[in-house]
Amino acid sequence: PSISYHEDTIAAIVTGPQGAVSIVRLSGPEAVQIAQHTFQPSGNRNDHMWRPRSHRVYHGLLQDSEGHALDEVLVLAMLAPRSYTREDVIELHTHGGGVCAARALQACLAAGARRARPGEFTLRAFLNGRLDLSQAEAVAALVNARTAEAADSALAGMTGGLGAAVAAMRSDTLNLLAELEARIDFDEDLPPVDVQLLRQRLAELQDRVSAALDTSQRGKLLSTGLQVALVGRPNVGKSSLLNALSGSERAIVTDIPGTTRDIVEAGAVMQGIPVNLLDTAGVREAGDLVERLGVQRSRAAAQAADIVLMIYDATRGWTEEDSIVFEGLWSAQAPSEVRSEATGPNGMTHASTGAESISEVPDGASTSWLPANGAVGDSLEEEKQRSLAHRVREPSSVSQRQAPPLILVANKLDLAQGEAHAQGGLPDEVSRACRASISTSAASGAGLDDLRAAVVDAAGLPSLSTGGRGWAVNERQAEALLRAREALDRAAQSMADGLPVDFWTIDVKDALLALGEVTGTDASEDVLDRVFSTFCIGK
Ligand code: GDP
Ligand code: ZN
Repeated sequence: PSISYHEDTIAAIVTGPQGAVSIVRLSGPEAVQIAQHTFQPSGNRNDHMWRPRSHRVYHGLLQDSEGHALDEVLVLAMLAPRSYTREDVIELHTHGGGVCAARALQACLAAGARRARPGEFTLRAFLNGRLDLSQAEAVAALVNARTAEAADSALAGMTGGLGAAVAAMRSDTLNLLAELEARIDFDEDLPPVDVQLLRQRLAELQDRVSAALDTSQRGKLLSTGLQVALVGRPNVGKSSLLNALSGSERAIVTDIPGTTRDIVEAGAVMQGIPVNLLDTAGVREAGDLVERLGVQRSRAAAQAADIVLMIYDATRGWTEEDSIVFEGLWSAQAPSEVRSEATGPNGMTHASTGAESISEVPDGASTSWLPANGAVGDSLEEEKQRSLAHRVREPSSVSQRQAPPLILVANKLDLAQGEAHAQGGLPDEVSRACRASISTSAASGAGLDDLRAAVVDAAGLPSLSTGGRGWAVNERQAEALLRAREALDRAAQSMADGLPVDFWTIDVKDALLALGEVTGTDASEDVLDRVFSTFCIGK
């Protein structure tokens, strides 16, 4: 989409509910006129029609159609094409608190503006050629970033890193296609096709698309984050680790194996990845051994997790009780269906400090082992299958379950007599099942960095330290890039099979279209709708 002219002028409150200042933004051909109707600049004594100059700030009174003052405001004018949308943009900076901005917006609507739809300012910026589609998506990712690393990555995408890379791939693909088509049309006049050279160029394109695809796992983790469950028998230090990792006092730590039916959540950041920690609190003192060990709780939390940390006590080494919890985690049937009560007879010794942090995780004997948000996966293909499985919702059987990666944590290292005692003596099946084995001390903080690195590694990210600030593709972009790569793969295959040139061109054309979807050159209205509907209003 190259040219686009919008007849109407849109308006929205573009700031959040808190803060001392709120901003109403207008964009469109009537933005200036609407401002003239609603704004009385200070010191405009001789009744001249006020005409804002671009990139100037004006002070004055905002008023409704009857001339009642609504607020004292600053007006910022950014006239076309030197604005975000490349249209005339007027910003009204009102007092914060919500009421002033709401009245300012009402005044603008009364003067002829229309309420902006989600993402409509950015949509106009895209349609007017100010941003490509990948940059527009990066704007949304920047607004929604939960960690500094996620913001860095979004910024790299917003300043055009991804867009430029894909545009270059697309233009090289286009050149390749032009050459192939020239062969078809004017076969006799040109030297014979240098298949070797074409193959090389195709292979190079395949590599570049693959390299872009390789960023998708990091992109996904930066935006959706990870669910990490801490499981283990009572008193091994789950809550202490949750507090140490999140730097909060979410979970109450106690010497007494306690009672609660809830799972405590806390947020943490591990190498830039937002992580939600789930602590399976203790269990009733009454009941059978399985119940006392909290096997059911551990299962439930593990079922909601992308990664499971199984904690045991390094001072005691691996015990029979740890084995019972371990077996309970992976067995097909929950070993005990006994539910603990909301408040046990012994009171809640193991509870969250904040009510909002408590959530119930359903006991999941019938739930399959699917990551809560699909954040972990070794390949896109696997991811696709998994999300498909999710949609189909087949009754799970043991064979269909896929357990999340397990990390063993020998805690209380500060009290243990050396490493050998901490990590020795693990049963074979436990060693085999776990991705990594780490020793920590929740008390001193020892080993916590190793643990964070192991979690990020288990999530499928080797390291964020190299190029961690670069752009990363989102799910939509990865899906289009995957199609591009498949098309290039097919073209390469046709070449290798010695098929006629027009066979290759079909696939190269497909690749071209798929690449164009990433930057929006070839994006359908459907795609645009889907992208911009996820934006917040005012962006
Ligand atoms: P949970 O039942 O598994 O959640 O265990 P808690 O976190 O409640 O800890 C049980 C007890 O072990 C508490 O007294 C903690 O202070 C203590 N504890 C936990 N981790 C450590 C550790 O790394 N070192 C030491 N010395 N004590 C710990
Ligand atoms: Zn605990």
